[in-house]
Amino acid sequence: MDKSFIRVWEEKDVKEIEPYLLIVGEVMGDCAKCKEVGLDYGAAKECPKCKTVFRYITSREATSSKPGRFTLIRRIHFKRPDLIFIDYDDYKSASGHSRAKSIFND
Ligand SMILES: [Zn+2]
Repeated sequence: MDKSFIRVWEEKDVKEIEPYLLIVGEVMGDCAKCKEVGLDYGAAKECPKCKTVFRYITSREATSSKPGRFTLIRRIHFKRPDLIFIDYDDYKSASGHSRAKSIFND
């Protein structure tokens, strides 16, 4: 089978992603829900602190401005095929919107 990466755009509520999101940094991962750092993103099924079970993954290093982002995304995907890769730029922009909205609603 000849598989390729094809980006799929879906309408999602960032509040449904963030509590299950593992964010990969340069070396380690962190939990988007409780901000716990130093997670082994290649192995962590859940956050050791808040016990959230991860469903999504993204990487701070895989922004559109970085060269080589597709190599990195591919590497992360093959390490964690059980998680759905979320575009970091989309996530940041959506979580920024969501934060701004909740400030105005308070
Ligand atoms: Zn956590």
